[in-house]
Amino acid sequence: MSANNPLLQPYDLPPFSEIRPEHVEPAIDTVLADNRIALQELLTRPKESLDWATLVVGLDELNERLGRAWGPVGHLNAVKNSPELRAAYEACLPKLSAYWTELGQNRELFEAYRALAESPAAAGFDVAQKTILEHDLRDFRLSGIDLLPVEQQRFGAIRMKLAELGSTFSNQLLDATQAWTKHVTDEAVLAGLTESAKAQMAQAAKAKDLDGWLITLEFPSYHAVMTYADDRALREEVYTAYATRASDQGPNAGQFDNGPVMNEILDLRQELARLLGFGSYAELSLATKMAESTEQVLGFLRDLALRSKPHARRDLEELRAFAAEQGLADLQSWDLGYYSEKLRQQRYSLNQEALRAYFPVDKVLYGLFAIVQRLYGIEIREIEEFDRWHPDVRLFEIREHGEHVGRFFLDLYARPNKRGGAWMDGARDKRRTADGRLQSPVANLVCNFTPPVGEQPALLTHDEVTTLFHEFGHGLHHLLTRVEHAGASGINGVAWDAVELPSQFMENWCWEPEGLELISGHYQTGEPLPRDLLDKMLAAKNFQSGLMMVRQLEFSLFDFELHATHGDGRDIYQVLEGVRDEVAVLRPPAWNRFANGFAHIFAGGYAAGYYSYKWAEVLSSDAYSRFEEEGVFNAETGRAFREKILARGGSQEPMVLFVDFRGREPKIDALLRHLGLTGAAA
Ligand SMILES: [Zn+2]
Repeated sequence: MSANNPLLQPYDLPPFSEIRPEHVEPAIDTVLADNRIALQELLTRPKESLDWATLVVGLDELNERLGRAWGPVGHLNAVKNSPELRAAYEACLPKLSAYWTELGQNRELFEAYRALAESPAAAGFDVAQKTILEHDLRDFRLSGIDLLPVEQQRFGAIRMKLAELGSTFSNQLLDATQAWTKHVTDEAVLAGLTESAKAQMAQAAKAKDLDGWLITLEFPSYHAVMTYADDRALREEVYTAYATRASDQGPNAGQFDNGPVMNEILDLRQELARLLGFGSYAELSLATKMAESTEQVLGFLRDLALRSKPHARRDLEELRAFAAEQGLADLQSWDLGYYSEKLRQQRYSLNQEALRAYFPVDKVLYGLFAIVQRLYGIEIREIEEFDRWHPDVRLFEIREHGEHVGRFFLDLYARPNKRGGAWMDGARDKRRTADGRLQSPVANLVCNFTPPVGEQPALLTHDEVTTLFHEFGHGLHHLLTRVEHAGASGINGVAWDAVELPSQFMENWCWEPEGLELISGHYQTGEPLPRDLLDKMLAAKNFQSGLMMVRQLEFSLFDFELHATHGDGRDIYQVLEGVRDEVAVLRPPAWNRFANGFAHIFAGGYAAGYYSYKWAEVLSSDAYSRFEEEGVFNAETGRAFREKILARGGSQEPMVLFVDFRGREPKIDALLRHLGLTGAAA
C-alpha cells in the first residue's frame, strides 16, 4: 500500500491529482507509527547527545513528514470537499489529536528540551533558537506536562473532542450554505442586479441543468443580492437564509444546527483552561499572544468603541435619512447594503460595479507583483506546469537577486464544495533540514472571488482586490523569511495578535494613487483608472467607516467576552446582546444567528483572538505611517520592513521587531487617522 500511496512518496509539490480518499488513513497511520518509533529511538540515545541538531531538528523532521502526508489532505478538505474525503479526514482527527497530546505530554521529551535550554551550548544559540526553546517549553506546559496522569488523560480527551467539534461546525456550515438555493425564471425578480451578477447566476443554474438563474449563499451571490436587488422581498428572503445558516432558525431550521456544537465547544474550552490553571479560556488564549491581560484587551476594544460610536451613529442617521427620502421608513438589516450602495453612488457618483472593469485579475496580480518588486526587490513569475487540484489554480515563484525564494499557489474563485472566506496557509516551511539542505517555503493563498464568466477575464471589485493584497501580505510573511529554523520561520511562532500586521499593512497600497496606477487597467481598452474615478474612490474610502468599526468591535468583544465569562449563566446570544447594548448602533432581527456561522472562532484559530485584527491594525497603520513620512514607494523603507519584520518571522517578540522597524512603540493615532475617526463626529 505505502509503495503506491502518493501521500507517502517524497515529493516537491503535492501530487494533488493522485490523492484519493482511500490514501488518507493508511498514510496517516503509517507516518504516526513511524514517528512514534523514531521518537522512541531518539529518546533512548545518551542524554548528552541530544543537541539542537538531533533533538530540535530531529523533531522538525518528524513534523515535516507528518505535514507532507496531512497538509494536502487538510487543504483538499477545505477547497475540494466531498463526502468520501470528509470521512477520511475526520477519521484521522482523533489519531492526530492523540499524537499531539502525547508529544506535548511526553516527560522525557520535555526534560530533553529543558536540558538543552539550560546547557552551556544554549548560550551560543542565535536569537531565533532561544525563542524557539522558550516557546516550546511554554507549549509543553500548555499541553498539560505538569498535570497529574488522570488530568492529562482528561486533557487529551478534551482536545480530541474539540478537534472533532471544530470539524463538525465547518461541515454543517458548508452544508447549510449549499443546502439553500433559489431558482429564478422571471428576470424581473432580479431587477437592479448587475449584468455580471446575473451572468454568474445563469452560469450557476446551467451547472445544475436549470434554465434561468440560480441564487446561492456563496458569498459573491449573496453579496450581489444584498447590494443591488431592487426587490425588497428578495433581499429579505436571501438575508434570512444567509443569516440563519446552520441554526435553529430560518428556512432550514434545525437541519444543520451548530448551536449544540458551539455550547459544547465553549464548555470544553473552559474546562481545558481550568485544568491548566487559568481562570478562563480567554486567559489561556493570551498566554501565547502579544496582549498581556484580558483587562488590556477589553480596555483596548472599549476605548476604540468609545471613539468610533459617535461616528457610527452619524453614519446610521445619514443612511436612515437617505432611505426615508427614497420612501423607506423602516430600514431593516436586508436594506443596509442596498441603501448604502445607493447613498455611496449618490454622494460620490461612485459605482462599485463600474470599477470592476478596471480590475481584471491579471492586471491586478501583475500590478501587485510590480509593487512588491519596488518595495522589497523581489521578482515573481508564473509557473505553468504543475499538478493542480482545480483548473483555476495557479502557481507562482518568487526570486530575489536571481535566486529562488519560494512558491505560492493561488486559488481565487468561489465554487461549490469550497469553504468560504479567504486565507493563507504555509504549505511548507523554510528550514535547514537534517542533511544540511535549505528547504524553500511554499504557501497556499485561497480566496472566494467572483469567478470569470464565459471568455471574459475575472473582474474584481475593489474589496476583492483588497482581500487579495491582505492574503498576499500573509504569504510574503511566510515566504520572505530569513529564519532557517522551522519553529520560527515565516509565520511559525508569531503571536496570533501580531500575525495580521503584514497582511493589513499590504492593503494600504490598494489605496495609493501610485499603487492603483499599477494594478488597474480597463479590461477592454487597457486604459488606467481615470483620475476622476480615482478621486471618487479615495473620497469614498472612509464611507461608513464608523459603522464598519463598531461591527468589527462587536465581533471582537463578543468573542472575547464569550470566552472570558463562559459559565456565568448567560447563553451565547445573551452575551451577544450584552455586547450589542454596549457598542452596536444597529440591532439585527432577533432570529439572526450570525454566531452559528462565525467559523473564525468556532472552527478556526481565532477563539478569544478575533480582537487580533484590530490589535494588529494599530501596528500595521503605524508601520505604514513611516512610509507616508518617507515615501510610500521608498525602497529603503521597503527593505527595512522586509528585513526587520517580514524576514524575522517568529524569531523574537513582535514588540521588539516593531520597535526595531518604527523606532518606538506603536501609537493608535495613525489607525484613527486612516479611518477618518479622529475628532468629533460632525
Ligand atoms: Zn489575515
